Amino acid sequence: MIRDIDMVLRPEEGTGETVLAKAASRKLHVSPRDIQAVTIIRRSIDARRSDVKINIRARVYIGESPEVRNPVVYQDVSSAPDAVVVGAGPAGLFAALSLIECGIRPVVLERGKDVHSRRLDTALLSREGKLNPESNYAFGEGGAGAYSDGKLYTRSTKRGDPGKILRILVQHGADESILYDAHPHIGTDKLPLIIENIRKTIIRSGGEVRFSSKVTGLLRRGDEVSGVVLESGEEVHGPVILATGHSAKDVYSFLLEGNYSLEAKSTAVGVRLEQPQALIDSIQYHRDGGRGPYLPPASYSFTAQVNGRGVYSFCMCPGGFVVPASTEEGLLVINGMSPSNRGGRWANSGMITEIRKEEIDGDDPLRVLRYIESIERSSYRPGFMAPAERMTDFCYDRPSGILPESSYRPGLVAARLDDVLPPVVTSSLRSGFLVFSERTRGRFLTDEGTVIACETRTSSPVRILRDDAMRQGKGLYPAGEGAGYAGGIVSAAMDGDEAARSLWRDMNG
Ligand SMILES: Cc1cc2nc3c(=O)[nH]c(=O)nc-3n(C[C@H](O)[C@H](O)[C@H](O)COP(=O)(O)OP(=O)(O)OC[C@H]3O[C@@H](n4cnc5c(N)ncnc54)[C@H](O)[C@@H]3O)c2cc1C
Repeated sequence: MIRDIDMVLRPEEGTGETVLAKAASRKLHVSPRDIQAVTIIRRSIDARRSDVKINIRARVYIGESPEVRNPVVYQDVSSAPDAVVVGAGPAGLFAALSLIECGIRPVVLERGKDVHSRRLDTALLSREGKLNPESNYAFGEGGAGAYSDGKLYTRSTKRGDPGKILRILVQHGADESILYDAHPHIGTDKLPLIIENIRKTIIRSGGEVRFSSKVTGLLRRGDEVSGVVLESGEEVHGPVILATGHSAKDVYSFLLEGNYSLEAKSTAVGVRLEQPQALIDSIQYHRDGGRGPYLPPASYSFTAQVNGRGVYSFCMCPGGFVVPASTEEGLLVINGMSPSNRGGRWANSGMITEIRKEEIDGDDPLRVLRYIESIERSSYRPGFMAPAERMTDFCYDRPSGILPESSYRPGLVAARLDDVLPPVVTSSLRSGFLVFSERTRGRFLTDEGTVIACETRTSSPVRILRDDAMRQGKGLYPAGEGAGYAGGIVSAAMDGDEAARSLWRDMNG
């Protein structure tokens, strides 16, 4: 017999198999000896009161063994027809895996380095402010998702099966808990090995993954895209899944030059807010003495409408670091990441506000991108130091003298963010912070908070148009975040997976 049950446990009880089996035996009035296994279906934290609880939905196997889920089988595609995948971010890697499932041989072309070599370049940028424009927090194997918090939560369930993406990540080394945690995450220390394992699957199946292979144009045969040309001049032939992310501005440029259809897209911009993790723990768990040994570092999610404009927290990283995510000299963009234990001293989160494409004059498809660039240019300081202001000073419109300590390694420079960001952004953020503070009885707005500019690459400011079959004309499948159809690791992976299936359907008539 199989029974699904809900249990409410105290954090100190843990959620190990023995604890769950005991709780299940009490709840179902069966002997623990008859329980073969208990598996967690969903786990979440209920922190509405100081008496924090862990909610578990579990599947209990009484007198029978749990079903075994078979891993996805990746067949040998070494003599199958080729398809070109440009970009080895989540969209490109999952497109490649999906092509293999469909019996097509992926040739993955990535402008950056492999995920391990890439780490040296991100370290150089963080420690010495030296940027490699082809290998950084956005470019390289694993894409922008490689050095992130690895949050795997997505709301976009309509375009695919997030569960499949999570199962494939587990098959490649991620912890099983991502299958049931309400807000799953992997951590920047664990992601590289998983990405390397995905590469090994692609190569073992007969596919190719090539680094330092920057695509600079598309090849055409009549009205069909028939391959790509690399910076070296080499041509690579096959239908093309273009999964280059939203930082590859050169890709938008060569598409416009080739008369492909692009349009401007609304986005959101703002700052990254850094605060002590202990403050967030005490607010979210309603405990002044800290979260204690059993609860994970707390996170938050805020949203408000101020003056008809959305202001919200984005990509919150408990116990994380603020990092320079720039891809070009002279433009500063920051982001956040955290290790799997989220054990750092600070919490950081993007705090952003909507920028609608209609608010920016003209009909240039790159006009929102240019607007973002102008913010990144005014945020830039030599060595990728970042302009920052104390949260309270920012809200009460007064200059900051000494800034709080920060995890941002290139360093902070005290500045008035009104001189850096457009007025519509600073005024919306100020109002938003005051609303968020009210909701936390004034605790969120604190002298210990630092507002750092600028967070601009929250979603693509451009869309590469495609039809219902996910293609623009024959042979070109724009996919993932850079194409404007995804935002985040899981949704980009799902989009890549679906684009590969569409390509397969077209190949098979
Ligand atoms: C620091 C940081 C933290 C983040 N944290 C999270 C998080 O916790 N959870 C989450 O869901 N999302 C997070 N994100 C966002 C997430 O990483 C992206 O949404 C996701 O990676 C988009 O996937 P993608 O494959 O569409 O594009 P990308 O990941 O941007 O991948 C595109 C790839 O294409 C390559 N490329 C570009 N141009 C070319 C070219 N011309 N030729 C060959 N290759 C090319 C790039 O080098 C890159 O590897 C984070 C982003 C950053 C920067």
